[in-house]
Amino acid sequence: AGGNRLEIFNDEMRVAVQQRITAESRLRQALDGDRVATLPVWFQPIVSPATGLIVGAEALVRMWTTEGELLAPGHFIPTAEETGLVVPLGEHVLAEALRHLHRWRHELGYVSVNVSPRQLSEPDFVPKLARMLAVSGLDDPSRLVLEITETALLSNSLDLRNRLHAIKALGVRIALDDFGTGYSSLTWLQSVPADIVKLDRSFVAGLADDTRKASIISAVLWLAHSLNMSVVAEGVEDLADWEALRAAECPAIQGYFFSPPVTADDFHQMLTPARGV
Ligand code: C2E
Ligand code: CA
Ligand code: CA
Repeated sequence: AGGNRLEIFNDEMRVAVQQRITAESRLRQALDGDRVATLPVWFQPIVSPATGLIVGAEALVRMWTTEGELLAPGHFIPTAEETGLVVPLGEHVLAEALRHLHRWRHELGYVSVNVSPRQLSEPDFVPKLARMLAVSGLDDPSRLVLEITETALLSNSLDLRNRLHAIKALGVRIALDDFGTGYSSLTWLQSVPADIVKLDRSFVAGLADDTRKASIISAVLWLAHSLNMSVVAEGVEDLADWEALRAAECPAIQGYFFSPPVTADDFHQMLTPARGV
């Protein structure tokens, strides 16, 4: 029996290793090929609950497999992080985000792009960003927002803080992603020159029926306001939560209730709805 157990265990390990290798080679192939086609960047609207208007969008990458399956980032971002492939991947997403922001410059306020810890720690991240901004034709760099997570800041090194200040000096805005889920959110608020707090969906979904969630949200809204930061509530899935956030005067929301992430073309349709019948 012990022998059998060992067999199964080895099998599972082998499968896990193989899956990782497959994911890595897929990703490599995608990055070497037609990135725009194979790694499409989708957009999810960020909306003002007061007006119902789209104020911005979050860029979210997807990957087509050779078998014609569309993978969500959860299936390949972790491998991309481990292998460092997240650096060229992130560059691609940033380039696509800037390209679309230019295309939608008259209809869309800003585009928000996820930056992984690995990307942020690349020594030439800021100069590269500056070059990409320069060629993007973007009139106002504050229309680009970089979303960072707390894990990126765990080191909280001087180097990293300098880097965040250098990003700010370019005029680009910084958002604290998944706010509230980490270990040191308040330290984060104190030490990072952020412009936007993205309140994690674990505090948002179901807030209309949960007075504790509602209290946490009011407190974060108040705190952010005092610190001159804006707030995006993530994961708004139903009308009751939308109404509650509007009543709480939350400046912006994002979630399936308004729209899931969609292709760039579908997002374009949302921005410029067809007139007439
Ligand atoms: P995230 O940055 O927290 O992005 C929001 C995720 O929540 C998206 O998942 C989105 O589809 C999902 N979501 C939006 N509204 C709702 C809702 O109402 N309810 C629920 N349950 N979920 C909602 P997605 O697109 O699968 O992305 C997952 C994660 O992958 C992202 O989480 C982000 O951490 C990462 N990611 C996506 N694109 C990129 C990228 O270009 N670069 C990097 N480094 N990471 C990325
Ligand atoms: Ca995000
Ligand atoms: Ca998030």
